[in-house]
Amino acid sequence: MPNLPVSNLFVNLSTQKTYPRQNVVRTTLYTCHMSQNAILRIAALGSGSAGNALCVTDGVTTILVDCGFSAKETTRRLRCMGVEPASVSAILVTHEHIDHVSGIEVFCRRHAPEATVYATPGTRRAADLPSKAARCAEVSRMTPFTVGSFEVLPFAISHDAAEPVGYRISTEEHSVGIATDTGVLTEQASQALSGCEYLGIECNYDAAMLAAGPYPAYLKNRIRSCIGHLSNAAGADALATLAHDGLKAVLALHCSRTNNTAGLAGSALTGRLREIGLPEVPVAVASQIDVCALTHADRPREHPYP
Ligand SMILES: [Zn+2]
Ligand SMILES: [Zn+2]
Repeated sequence: MPNLPVSNLFVNLSTQKTYPRQNVVRTTLYTCHMSQNAILRIAALGSGSAGNALCVTDGVTTILVDCGFSAKETTRRLRCMGVEPASVSAILVTHEHIDHVSGIEVFCRRHAPEATVYATPGTRRAADLPSKAARCAEVSRMTPFTVGSFEVLPFAISHDAAEPVGYRISTEEHSVGIATDTGVLTEQASQALSGCEYLGIECNYDAAMLAAGPYPAYLKNRIRSCIGHLSNAAGADALATLAHDGLKAVLALHCSRTNNTAGLAGSALTGRLREIGLPEVPVAVASQIDVCALTHADRPREHPYP
């Protein structure tokens, strides 16, 4: 293994689920060193219109952002990254669409009864969260709160949902920002995600593929609208706005299996990073079928993950 100076890791952990193989987005394997003293792990358990869940853990506190797979699938994917479902202490809900909330009820009841489900009042109402989880808490945009060892900052995104948000999740030293299901990069997102070390940014569609694709016109227009989804080009623009010298890695989220490919999404982001003088920042594309994990580690160790 080459002697890589950056101690970050993207790795695809196969979930070995059988899905139709056509139009499957495959994530490129990025391998860098990690440490025995890994202090922050971030993984897209899966991302796309068939289900979204992202896990952030420091080994003490484990947070899920959305829970849009079945409880069984969420559990299996968490275990793929070595996380026990019972250790999940919070689920941060971005918005009420089914691909983000469908697993909450059963996952909380069966696997994480102690977990608190956080959402804005609008999302809480629209998703009827109190009927799904024993512990619910309301959050407000741009008002930070604490979950174990993390500080969490919800910020407005622009989507056709009641009161959608993205989240910045920070420890004293590290920060992860997640902005998906948003038609534009909002003012609040720019503010909240400024200086984030790790960015998860939506790259939902390639404009030409969407235009030529099978979706009906109303749906194409909804996706392209300012309350729809970010295209690869718009995701790259958002990244250029948010990028800085301390940026450690970028994860492309919510890639459409019909209107995009991992190659197009990944090259839109890497191309833009090159243009703005940050060619060394690794980019991975989260997929629907595989866990895409990133481990931040301070010191390299001898063996590659896992
Ligand atoms: Zn979605
Ligand atoms: Zn949505």
